[in-house]
Amino acid sequence: TKKAVQIENLSVYYGQTPAIAGVCLDVDDGGYLGIIGPNGGGKSTLLKAILGLVPKASGTIQIYGQAFRGNKGLVGYVPQFSGLNRSFPITTREVVLMGKLKPGLTPLHKFTGADQEGTEELLERVGIYHLASRQIAALSGGEFQKMLIARALAVNPRCLLLDEPTASVDASSRDQIYDLLAELNTQMTIILVTHDLRAISSQVRTLACLNGHLVYHGEPELSERLV
Ligand code: ADP
Ligand code: ADP
Repeated sequence: TKKAVQIENLSVYYGQTPAIAGVCLDVDDGGYLGIIGPNGGGKSTLLKAILGLVPKASGTIQIYGQAFRGNKGLVGYVPQFSGLNRSFPITTREVVLMGKLKPGLTPLHKFTGADQEGTEELLERVGIYHLASRQIAALSGGEFQKMLIARALAVNPRCLLLDEPTASVDASSRDQIYDLLAELNTQMTIILVTHDLRAISSQVRTLACLNGHLVYHGEPELSERLV
């Protein structure tokens, strides 16, 4: 099977201590990997390493067979903390449009009409087309997460990384987000960091458990023994 992500012997350091050490992990193209593990186990760090956002790492990461060179475009990212100030006066549509910013472009970049149209499509795809003109301050937790997913899709990724996307959403939005992820998985590889056991058992095809190193990688059915 073709691999979306291949990680060999990855260690990531913040200062002297490794946050993760010697991790080997691969993800099939079209796969759906769930990542679980205790707080501080290195789950977010692993996602950030795949995105090239960690300062000090050793080992190799290949994305669709290419050595990692900040493979933006191949990989979309829904961070745990978006860095977006909820009181900032910006609309849902504008946040999603920013997802189209390429490295090196500033927010003063003039977007084309095609960029704008693409944004409407993305909003529709995640089910928040009707919220396009709403200020982000007025979005619910679930709507905000869907907006972040739409923003991540703006690069047209082959692989989508999500860090606890259901952490602060109500139960019905959570179900909608998991339905959306299942649908997106028919088009792209998904790597999901979660504490939500339901997501693990019902959707995820493989499971990784991290606690500084890889504790487990395999069938999701075994997850109940791990957490
Ligand atoms: P998880 O996502 O599993 O909770 P993290 O990847 O966030 O784990 O963190 C792994 C370890 O790295 C923890 O010990 C955490 O304190 C440390 N860490 C994470 N980010 C930083 C950072 N920016 N600076 C220093 N230490 C960090
Ligand atoms: P933390 O979880 O440590 O608070 P985030 O995960 O929100 O931080 O973001 C970490 C870094 O990733 C930030 O510098 C942010 O600008 C950057 N970032 C956010 N989204 C993307 C993306 N789609 N592609 C590349 N980098 C991103």
